[in-house]
Amino acid sequence: MAPMLEVKDLVVAYGRVRAVKGISFTIDEGQIVCLLGTNGAGKSTTLRTISGLLRPESGSILFEGEPIGGLKPHKIVAKGIAQSPEGRRIFPEMSVEDNLRLGAYSRRDSQVDDDLGKIFELFPILGERRRQRAGLFSGGEQQMLAIGRAMMSRPRLLMLDEPSMGLSPLMTTTIMRTIEQLRRDGVTILLVEQNAQAALTLADHGYVLEVGQIMYDDAGSALLDDDRIRRTYLGAA
Ligand code: ATP
Repeated sequence: MAPMLEVKDLVVAYGRVRAVKGISFTIDEGQIVCLLGTNGAGKSTTLRTISGLLRPESGSILFEGEPIGGLKPHKIVAKGIAQSPEGRRIFPEMSVEDNLRLGAYSRRDSQVDDDLGKIFELFPILGERRRQRAGLFSGGEQQMLAIGRAMMSRPRLLMLDEPSMGLSPLMTTTIMRTIEQLRRDGVTILLVEQNAQAALTLADHGYVLEVGQIMYDDAGSALLDDDRIRRTYLGAA
């Protein structure tokens, strides 16, 4: 079976500075794949390019066999890819429910209310506080909201940029369990994480980026046991 997402020889630059220098990777349907790497490795740039927020300088991005590199973000959402951005980017003055409804802005079907109900099942706290201003929420609750908002576009591929950033260990566990639940519900996941331990515990496969290039990749469990990963990303001596 062809991969769901195939990124080939992707180069992305900010002006003359290349942040992503020819990376290739694939994601099969139903997988959780993670991108690891230190600050500035090019992880967010990669996600933002797949989302259509940045244009590739060269290389290709195929989603379900179709080239999507350089398409506008709303076209990419309509094809079934959604991103929960780094730093969450929720709208603090708007209610929880209105933030969630924004995620469905490009949909023309009549099932938005049903899907809102599903998000409230996944994250009961969002349902209990649906009329409150989102800015009153804790970091973890805002992360739930950002994931919920991305899910409101009914993605088949969900990309999450550092969902555990700034969260307590307990809240990180909650978010990671949710990611597993979403996968069980049939969503394919591309996860960018600084928390390598948490990400690799979930991931079927991981790619390690350093200064815009993939240095190595392996099964999540194999990377957890890999000395290079343990030294660099897991703080092992
Ligand atoms: P982090 O976890 O810190 O976000 P990252 O792996 O996601 O790291 P990117 O944010 O993709 O890394 O950044 C890759 C490189 O591109 C870095 O050298 C960064 O300084 C540079 N960069 C990122 N955004 C811009 C921008 N808007 N303009 C210019 N350079 C940028």
